[in-house]
Amino acid sequence: MLGYFKDFILNIFVICSPLVLYPYIHKMKSNLRLYRFYLYVLFSLSLIMTMSFPINMNGLLYDFRSIPLALGSLSGGALVSACLYATLLLYRYFLDSPHNWIYVISLLPSFFVFLALYKYYNSLSLARKIAAAVFLCSMIKLMTFTTFLTITGQIELLFNKPWATVQTYLLQGLIIGLCVYALHMLHTFFLMQEEMVKSEKMKIVGDMAASVAHEIRNPLTTIRGFIHLFASADLDSEKKELYKKICFEELDRSELIIADYLALAKPDPEIVEAIDIHHEVHYLANVLMTYANYHNIEIHVMASEEHPFKIQGDRYKFRQALINIGKNAIEAMEGGGTLELKTSVQNEHAWIILSDNGSGMTPEQMKRLGTPYYSTKEKGTGLGTMVSFSIIKKMNGKIEIKSELGVGTEFNLMFPKAN
Ligand code: ADP
Ligand code: MG
Repeated sequence: MLGYFKDFILNIFVICSPLVLYPYIHKMKSNLRLYRFYLYVLFSLSLIMTMSFPINMNGLLYDFRSIPLALGSLSGGALVSACLYATLLLYRYFLDSPHNWIYVISLLPSFFVFLALYKYYNSLSLARKIAAAVFLCSMIKLMTFTTFLTITGQIELLFNKPWATVQTYLLQGLIIGLCVYALHMLHTFFLMQEEMVKSEKMKIVGDMAASVAHEIRNPLTTIRGFIHLFASADLDSEKKELYKKICFEELDRSELIIADYLALAKPDPEIVEAIDIHHEVHYLANVLMTYANYHNIEIHVMASEEHPFKIQGDRYKFRQALINIGKNAIEAMEGGGTLELKTSVQNEHAWIILSDNGSGMTPEQMKRLGTPYYSTKEKGTGLGTMVSFSIIKKMNGKIEIKSELGVGTEFNLMFPKAN
């Protein structure tokens, strides 16, 4: 037992270690082609490694190639599966294994099994997925082995060491079960994070509704006054023109406020693209303007739009991250104040700086910033900064915070230049 225990542990490591890369691959899900390509790389890496380190089980040389093959085929679909099969066959040929054509004939039926079952498998619950993966993996191994050994006239090998053979099936079932569980957990974790981002976004929309309504009321009152003027007094044409111009300006402003607000509530298209930070900082100032006015706060922007600097990310998520931080800054300045939005560009990275002269935080409070459900507000969720931080980190950004109680807070966000 101990003889192959070491090899067994090594194989678990070899199969599971590429799963560490899964979080990065999950990020690519919006680009299906790239996502499938990375899935293929992940599982082919694991496939090649298992084939390179077979286990010697009581004289029976054995490897776990069917695990990455099954996992990759079931999670990636037809194209990923076909590429994995091709990789397996090529690598087997490269390893100088005997009877390559017979092996191709023995292995190929399993490809069609995956093709037929892939969609059905992905609609199953976790327990059923594990059971299906264990069953499929064992079936495929049995099918391939039996066909291969029958054609090559060595079928008696299958029954030579029955206990060792059964053990290989058990171990394989155990490992694939664990892998399906781990993949499912990772997937659920990311889905939960995405849900949290969405629900926080709706919270922002809800919080800002009052200020938007308030802001639109002002132009409406102005226009109402002018309509009265038009109706009551004898106005010369010059004055009429001027009042008309003011009315249109006010209407345009209301339209802009509504458009910005609606854009905030729109569902995300999830596209990673190059975004110009100066432009985004001006957009941020526009969106926050109504909320700031409502709280008696001024916004100063220092971001020149003359020299574009592009960073990589999902524009709408990035906006959400900045709005969360800006909104917190406004909420921290209870008696009024100034929110400063600055950009500073270096060769390969840029800083976005949001500073307020609000309540500030103690070092203890700063430590808790970004942890779930930490809030000092009566109606706070304590999820805003957590969501912002996770969006910024996904964009390979860095966050530095300086804060002093009663003086103010400064959020320094650094982003690398888009390639
Ligand atoms: P919420 O805004 O719902 O309370 P957040 O995660 O957005 O949740 O913020 C968590 C807490 O961090 C806030 O309740 C507040 O105490 C603190 N905080 C965040 N930004 C600032 C800031 N600019 N100044 C002072 N305190 C802040
Ligand atoms: Mg908040």
